[in-house]
Amino acid sequence: MKLVYRLTVVLAVVAVLATPVLAADKKVRWKLAMTWSSTLTPFATAPFNLAKMVEEMSGGNFVIRVEGAEKHKAALGILDMTKGGQYEMGHSASYYWKGKDISTVFFCTVPFGMNVDEQNAWFYHGGGMELMQETYDKFDVLSFPGGNTGVQMGGWFQKEINSLEDLKGLKMRIPGLAGEVFAKLGVNVTNIPSGELYTSLDRGTIDALEWVGPAMDIKMGFHKIAPYYYTGWHEPATELQFLINQKAFEELPPEYQTMLVTAMKAVTADLYTDNFAGSVEAWSQMKKDYPNIVVKTFPPEVLAAMKQAADELYDAYAAEDPFFKKVWESQKEYMEKARTWTQISEYNYINTVNQLSE
Ligand code: CA
Repeated sequence: MKLVYRLTVVLAVVAVLATPVLAADKKVRWKLAMTWSSTLTPFATAPFNLAKMVEEMSGGNFVIRVEGAEKHKAALGILDMTKGGQYEMGHSASYYWKGKDISTVFFCTVPFGMNVDEQNAWFYHGGGMELMQETYDKFDVLSFPGGNTGVQMGGWFQKEINSLEDLKGLKMRIPGLAGEVFAKLGVNVTNIPSGELYTSLDRGTIDALEWVGPAMDIKMGFHKIAPYYYTGWHEPATELQFLINQKAFEELPPEYQTMLVTAMKAVTADLYTDNFAGSVEAWSQMKKDYPNIVVKTFPPEVLAAMKQAADELYDAYAAEDPFFKKVWESQKEYMEKARTWTQISEYNYINTVNQLSE
């Protein structure tokens, strides 16, 4: 009996020592609003997985309820709702806030900007995270990377683009700075809700549109009605975004803060991989079902004009907004250094191997 008693005491002490003492047996209940509907994978997958991880890590004490746009009906209200505290968190994309602050575009993607590796290196090692937070401080929110699509496709076109002339009067759905670039080249840029895109392209209300890439485009069905799939230039590394109400974050026990930051980073990495793998499968499927799809790259003359138009836009914004200039210069400077390495490493590897098989 005595021995059993002693053993019990020893085990109890060991158990106490082995159990981490959380300042946080505190129950925390948060809500997260997404720009997307709950079924839009792989975007919506990230917040749902984040909530699952945080709940498990906290032993069920830190619970985040994720709401899609079908519930809150404010797809583009995520920044306002996180700032206002109706939701402690949001999942969206920084370029949606360009009307509030033009510099927000740099924390998503910009035409002719960095690829995903270069941009991640800039975020974590080139001052990007600090510049992003400086931008979002005025909204009283924290901003973190939220998963990257990698390079997006230039879009689905009904007609071939062989010259600058072919862009004149072309009706296209293309949002953001890229839309401004195309508008400068004579494209009639329109903004149509996602639910109406297929019908608009099918009926000729628009001649072209861009969406994301094979993994997400295949579900929209554009490949069934448009023969040309152009390669990307306008969204080389679209980074989604987690937003957190600053005050709510500060009130979290430090353990929960670490759990949250760690889980955000994990699901951010997963989203990129999931979307890449999704595109591998989707492209192979599209090509099998619709073998006549032609992948095209815009002719050099058109690309050069796009690049020039983009540079003019950046210069114009930089002239009127010193902070835009600061972030743009930070990106340009980092991209120049990083691109040299990309060329030597990834680009050279693919080129070398391609030459072997030619
Ligand atoms: Ca897009």
